[in-house]
Amino acid sequence: MSGKQLTLEACGKTYPDGTRALTPVDLTVAAGEIVVLLGPSGCGKTTLLRMVAGLDRPDPGGRVMLDGRDVTTLPIEKRGVGMVFQSYALFPHMSVAGNIGYGLRVQGWPKAKRKARVDEMLATARLEEFAGRRVDQLSGGQRQRVALARALAPGSGMILLDEPLTALDAGLREGLRAEIAAMIHAQGATALYVTHDQAEALTLGDRLVVMDKGRIAQVGTPREVYYAPQSDYVAGFFGHVNRLSGTVENGVFTTAAGTLALPGRPNGETTLAFRPEAAVVGAANGLTFTVKAALFEGPRQRVDLAGPEGEHLVAFAPGIRPYAPGDQVTVSVDPDGLLATGASAI
Ligand code: ATP
Repeated sequence: MSGKQLTLEACGKTYPDGTRALTPVDLTVAAGEIVVLLGPSGCGKTTLLRMVAGLDRPDPGGRVMLDGRDVTTLPIEKRGVGMVFQSYALFPHMSVAGNIGYGLRVQGWPKAKRKARVDEMLATARLEEFAGRRVDQLSGGQRQRVALARALAPGSGMILLDEPLTALDAGLREGLRAEIAAMIHAQGATALYVTHDQAEALTLGDRLVVMDKGRIAQVGTPREVYYAPQSDYVAGFFGHVNRLSGTVENGVFTTAAGTLALPGRPNGETTLAFRPEAAVVGAANGLTFTVKAALFEGPRQRVDLAGPEGEHLVAFAPGIRPYAPGDQVTVSVDPDGLLATGASAI
């Protein structure tokens, strides 16, 4: 199966009660790509997904195209897209194989071809040993693999996933992220995946669409949106951003807490922006900060630091060496971790 290219042109949505859920958005998802729609509750992720599914229509002027074909007015059953929801929507009384083969039966696949395809999907989802088991006798993670296998089985080339892991516990979610991405890629399908979980989005998306109040705030690879955010909103959405003001002269950054070598930076006043993992606590040279608090999380600790003029930094340090409030520490900043940003405010 080969994935379909999805193109959204000026897709906006105003609900009959006047709610403007989406201002017109343009988006292209390449064949075989997993694109994650991400943003806080109410930002329009589900609305966008429903328009691609054919459950909702965009406002007049908007177009949904699959492989260059305008499908805007096609109902869901004629659109040929697979769907996976948070609630598995499986048939509980049916076997795993029965569920996976359901769509193929509806589409009238001949028996031998259907069986071969179900076997292939059972293998892809690592569910061979559960083929005959009823789905209500499976764990949550296994059920979600069945749901994905069922959605991929007809080979429609386009699959939509709406918070598929949200109902599962944290440990299981982490394990399934990579597995879901691998299953989708193995089938060559194109996927649009909705989540509000940043780690999930960064882990399994080839590209992320970060949304804010019905608009697209930024589209980019996980590294781009995380380390090159184009706005304060996108930067802050993925976690804390440290800011440190000072002056650069001949490759040396000077601030109240000391100096840092920053070769290649232009001379003048500047504000460095960097994430907590770019602040290196206990460096040989750097700035002098005082530990205010250290929160041990096992592999890492969050260290809150105060500078001589009330500057506040958050650092993620390895958990190995304990820090206590009042400790004086030397902090350097990994120059590769400075946020490359398009926003003057950052
Ligand atoms: P969540 O993460 O909570 O699911 P979301 O990002 O998926 O949120 P949407 O469900 O797309 O957000 O909703 C976007 C906006 O449109 C919200 O303000 C919501 O209240 C509104 N909305 C959604 N469906 C309707 C509807 N049928 N009628 C009126 N307003 C709606």
